[in-house]
Amino acid sequence: MMELDTIPETRVLVDEILHSIFFLGNLRDPTFSPQTFLSDDILTELKDRYPRPFTHYSTQLPRRSPFSCVLDMFVHLCGKEEEDKIKDSLRELFNEMGQTCEKRPLSSSTICISQTSDPGRYYGVSMSTSGRNPGQIMVAASCLKSWHSYVAGAVMTFYPDIQNDFDGTIKLPERVRCQTFSLSNGREMPPCGACGNLFGLGRVEDKSWAYGNCAEVESVSNLIKNVETVREEARPKSEKCTEEKREMAEERVKKKLITLLKLVENTKLAKLAKQLQCGKIKFTDLFYDPYISERRSD
Ligand SMILES: [Zn+2]
Repeated sequence: MMELDTIPETRVLVDEILHSIFFLGNLRDPTFSPQTFLSDDILTELKDRYPRPFTHYSTQLPRRSPFSCVLDMFVHLCGKEEEDKIKDSLRELFNEMGQTCEKRPLSSSTICISQTSDPGRYYGVSMSTSGRNPGQIMVAASCLKSWHSYVAGAVMTFYPDIQNDFDGTIKLPERVRCQTFSLSNGREMPPCGACGNLFGLGRVEDKSWAYGNCAEVESVSNLIKNVETVREEARPKSEKCTEEKREMAEERVKKKLITLLKLVENTKLAKLAKQLQCGKIKFTDLFYDPYISERRSD
């Protein structure tokens, strides 16, 4: 990891990965602090090179889970056209992390590639958290801060609960390739029912994962952020997708996030939840910005 901090882009990602890992460790009961899983030497060196993740992990939220940052790192280092190389590298890392879910609690299990006829490929990995609460916290955080607003709107149609008065689901154009593979064995995995509902994908499996957890979500978000023609075609078209209804859906996600933070057995996060609830902290100031570290070191 240390050699990566010579390149500004990867240095920002290392900063973000550390913050996200530390935050998720802090959600565990008992708390899993950096001191408990890093040796003294590594701790000292990391604190010296990346001080902000250490000072902000208990007071600010990551906008996405750590494996999403790892994916960005591989895409950056391999080149985004190098699909096989990216998949192989992630699979190698996945297998190195251990053979059971318990041994790799922060690892994603699938990778998705979204692509139109042009050569650009846009990647996503499934949510890499362990436990229901951290997973739900990260879906809320990604809705509010990470995913493209169309994708966030689609997820918020079902999260925290199915909405009767808001429908932000989208339909991807038929020509879009949206293909997911297992990181453990490399096999293709058809989209689940939830992803079928979110993006109008055909050939779905009978089972559904929690809305927002699948690799398709991040991958489609990256595609829509980058390809204008898809963005125009995939615009949500339901009559129940007005600006006002969407704002209400977003308010429900914020309320859910406050509730989830209160449930964590951690005094700093409980305090943060109270400050959010009474408006002392704004949601815009809630999220950690790894680019601040980079700007300060220039
Ligand atoms: Zn799915």
